[in-house]
Amino acid sequence: MKARCAFIGLLIFGIFALQSTTAICPSLFNATSAEDGILSRIRLPSGLITSMQCDALIQVVNQFGNGEIQITNRANLQIRTSQALSLKVLQDFQDYGLASSNPSIDGLRNIMASPTAGIDIHAKINTIPFVKQWNLYLVNHPELEILSNKFSVCFDGGETISVSDRPNDICLVAVEIDREIYFNLYLGIGDRGESPSAVNVLIPSQQVLEVLAALTEIYRDYTEQKLNQNYSRVRPPRLRELLHDWGIERYLQSVEEKLGYSLRPSPPLPQERGVRSSYKHLGIHAQKQSKLFYIGVVIPLGRLTSHQLQGLGILAKQYGSGALRLTPWQNILITDILERNIEQVTREIKDLGLSISANHPYAAIAACSGSKGCKAALTDTQADAKKVAAHLENCIQLDRPINIHFSGCDKSCAQHHPSDIALVGIQRQDPNSPEAYRVYVGDGDTNFGREIYAEYAAKDLPALIVQLSQVYQNQRSDSKSFKNNKAKNDKI
Ligand code: SF4
Repeated sequence: MKARCAFIGLLIFGIFALQSTTAICPSLFNATSAEDGILSRIRLPSGLITSMQCDALIQVVNQFGNGEIQITNRANLQIRTSQALSLKVLQDFQDYGLASSNPSIDGLRNIMASPTAGIDIHAKINTIPFVKQWNLYLVNHPELEILSNKFSVCFDGGETISVSDRPNDICLVAVEIDREIYFNLYLGIGDRGESPSAVNVLIPSQQVLEVLAALTEIYRDYTEQKLNQNYSRVRPPRLRELLHDWGIERYLQSVEEKLGYSLRPSPPLPQERGVRSSYKHLGIHAQKQSKLFYIGVVIPLGRLTSHQLQGLGILAKQYGSGALRLTPWQNILITDILERNIEQVTREIKDLGLSISANHPYAAIAACSGSKGCKAALTDTQADAKKVAAHLENCIQLDRPINIHFSGCDKSCAQHHPSDIALVGIQRQDPNSPEAYRVYVGDGDTNFGREIYAEYAAKDLPALIVQLSQVYQNQRSDSKSFKNNKAKNDKI
């Protein structure tokens, strides 16, 4: 019955928007058209995908796609196909749980959680049940379809692999007070790409969903009002526009009125948010569950072949829980592996052409779609990143991850947080001149860091990055990261 209702919903939705290719943000039901194919985004709440779902996806990728699957920085999957996906494929995806049973909310941003939710030794609470309940709430509230599809919610359970610094509209961060677990409320009031800010509200864990629902409903009412006021408005307002318009206090007051009770103010809490992550999820790690381990696998630029995804899915089924976890760092975890199987799993990952080392050059390189996948791109970031990674692999043994971020323009879609080295595509005066980047290192006056070259030819980047990395490794003092080390000041 449930499947039939979902299908009817899909059919009704499909009459109007079956794989429309007009949306700015791609989703499964609103794909975008790019130079390298029709791009569909598969929304996987908290990045969980079962091996059975992998098989269903791989069939479609092999039949209609380019044989490649991409992980995004919100732990979605993206596929590129030569034609729009048919109603039958979309229905199959719904049956496998790869698409929402309610297509009207499938375009909302993925619900984010730490990839180690529920298995992290240091987590205060398992957030996966919250993600599932919130997703169910969205599915059952089609009136939320008018929200900006950038509306985003994140749960951070206090894991070592923290996601609380990721840009989200609403972030709930677990804290323990007097042996009780609460969630501290953060709202995304800053500029694009900025981490959300604490708003001095503490929510008991049992009230999290009703508060989240009230926050969302007030935002929906605001959206409806704005859309009604201005029929020519091309896009619904972001939550941050409401916050700037009303201020946080008025927003929270409206939420309290809807709830019928006052929100609890948060006491001063230690600032530990957002500094726990980096690349610690790669490699072999003990889980909270006794005698079980997870393995973090490096996925080069978040892209893997259908053969590799199938192989990882098989490993998850044979040796783990039967599910893979995609990370916002565009890598994959295989969980629940017994110690005696670690060697075998590691060997088979290597046989798939993948590494588990956090010091592998690809472990910390991020690149946006670039000119092959985005009309705004000024450079072919993907190809340039591959050349840099290959040169690093041949020339230097990294002793810690160096985060290198390629961005095809100033928008910085692939990574919002600062990197060790940032390369930003620049507009060329002469279209026949070779592609070039601005080069930044470490912290600095701009979002990308400190500019050291205003223009650097793409073809010369591999040599430059190897030299920068060498200077850093040779001159680094104690445990300092690239960001605060002397190497940042050195032009090569
Ligand atoms: S950063 Fe710029 S070039 Fe890259 S995907 Fe975003 S808009 Fe396109």
